[in-house]
Amino acid sequence: QPILELKDVHASYGNIKALKGISLKVYPGEIVAIIGANGAGKSTTLMTTCCVIPIDQGEIWYNGEPIHGKAAETLPPTGLCQVPEGRRIFPRLTVDENLELGAFYRKDKADVEKDRQHMFDLFPILQDRRKQHGGTLSGGEQQMLAIARALMTRPKVLLLDEPSLGLAPLIVQQIFDIIHDINEKNGTTILLVEQNANLALQAASRGYVLETGAITLEDDAKTLLDNPE
Ligand code: ADP
Ligand code: ADP
Repeated sequence: QPILELKDVHASYGNIKALKGISLKVYPGEIVAIIGANGAGKSTTLMTTCCVIPIDQGEIWYNGEPIHGKAAETLPPTGLCQVPEGRRIFPRLTVDENLELGAFYRKDKADVEKDRQHMFDLFPILQDRRKQHGGTLSGGEQQMLAIARALMTRPKVLLLDEPSLGLAPLIVQQIFDIIHDINEKNGTTILLVEQNANLALQAASRGYVLETGAITLEDDAKTLLDNPE
């Protein structure tokens, strides 16, 4: 059974139809990539998936239950977690404080400290920066912090919006290596959207191609990589 499923999802901004019937499935433990050009509807897909944007039509199922129509803040706090585009961290809070906020809704405070240490194992550079304000970090470090903060919620499904955006290739490679580790070692299911198709498909097991609000192709990632169009 998929952990996440979109069935014929339509979404719009006023008269602009951003999604025209998106259907996709994500199974537990997978990394799934949605690739497509700027404006294809990638961000909208992720935002509808975690109920940040309401849908006009269709269904969204998470963990065997329909969640469309619910308010984002009423979803289980350790379920879906989105890392929005553009590395939104709290610039005036330290790395430690950003990570603590990720665990805000958690009651198991002893485990929170353990998880923060685990984040430093995943992202050693953040340990060196733990007393620094988020805003003083480099772009790549901010992206790492944004991902680490999301992981502090212990999500079952991590939604990543263009993790490579505006970052140098070397840093991007590091971030994708860590995404791979998060999936493999923590068992976190990952749905990521990317303009950089090669990068995303190398990390993913399956992929969907999105064009102007519709899925035009779906296949295992290797097949999509080998047949660029
Ligand atoms: P990305 O395409 O990388 O996700 P954005 O989310 O900033 O970048 O914008 C995507 C597209 O949506 C752009 O073409 C932009 O012009 C358009 N857009 C964003 N915000 C608005 C808005 N408030 N009104 C109209 N168009 C918008
Ligand atoms: P992508 O993430 O693939 O770049 P988006 O999901 O951001 O695409 O955008 C999908 C479509 O919705 C585009 O046509 C874009 O211009 C439009 N759009 C996105 N955000 C807004 C917004 N806030 N207001 C109006 N139109 C928007």
